[in-house]
Amino acid sequence: MSELTLNGVHHISCITGDAPGNVEFYAGLLGMRLVKKTVNQDDPSVYHLFYGDEKGSPGFDLTFFEYPGSREGRAGAGMIHRILWRVGSSESLDYWADRLAAAGVETMRSADEGAEFYGVGPTGDGDTLMFQDPEGLTHEILVYDGPDAPLVAAHAEVPAEHAIQGFHGARAFSGNPEVTRQVLGLVLGFEDEGDDRWHLSGQAGEGFEARNGFYFLDEPPAERAIPGAGTVHHIAWASPLDEHSDWREKVAATGLYITPVIDRFYFKALYFREPGGILFEIATIGPGFATDEDPEHLGERLSLPPDFEAVREQVEPNLRPIPDVSQWRP
Ligand code: ZN
Repeated sequence: MSELTLNGVHHISCITGDAPGNVEFYAGLLGMRLVKKTVNQDDPSVYHLFYGDEKGSPGFDLTFFEYPGSREGRAGAGMIHRILWRVGSSESLDYWADRLAAAGVETMRSADEGAEFYGVGPTGDGDTLMFQDPEGLTHEILVYDGPDAPLVAAHAEVPAEHAIQGFHGARAFSGNPEVTRQVLGLVLGFEDEGDDRWHLSGQAGEGFEARNGFYFLDEPPAERAIPGAGTVHHIAWASPLDEHSDWREKVAATGLYITPVIDRFYFKALYFREPGGILFEIATIGPGFATDEDPEHLGERLSLPPDFEAVREQVEPNLRPIPDVSQWRP
């Protein structure tokens, strides 16, 4: 088996109890592009929404499964508790602080006294902005000056220079940090940069650029985790297509259970639960979201993978209407 390299974060999938409100927040307020509106492939009665940059690139792909009316969860041991994003400058943090405040969303700047969520303060030493979505999912925006290309969505209100530029990484509460560290370092190829900051250095390949991903382990709170709305379901790391099946062998060789390769139509997926309790996925870079839609019109209509197309007439009327995202397109 040749050396395998993960190319940063592919996507992060979360849970919402309110798809219409979720679209307002992520596509309307945060300026992300709804790149795919589809159904949960394991339960086609509910939405699976994908937000991204203009192209729906791996590295900027935030997804939500909707469980209508689901109660709010709480991050705890065995969960990711914060999603980290990039912008280009401190002025962009000012912009987001103002835009979120105007929409009634409370924010905290890293320099603010007592700035923390779930007992965890700001990431790194630089200027950052923290806030939660309407269901309590925590985000932090950092100023990024590294080598990765910005991934941005065009939006009617958000100026391009302030747009969110894709994932920086995530922070997690491992229920078994010692073994989680072994999985990160020995199996998945993360570098230990100290203080439980783990770095995945990507490598460019055919048709894609290198992306760096960061993952932080934090001391879990005493309160137990409650899965539900506003919590992260899983994180996916990006793999070149030609290395994907080797990852299955590599993870299985450690004795961890890993699923067979599952074809998610827009990419192929492998899932395993790392010993700290967090569901990891390894997802392929490509074929991508333009597989079944014109790139100009991503996410405008309900996309159904071929297996579900035959039941469109049963599926579509059961889904709650969501806001028309064309109002936020440039
Ligand atoms: Zn996934």
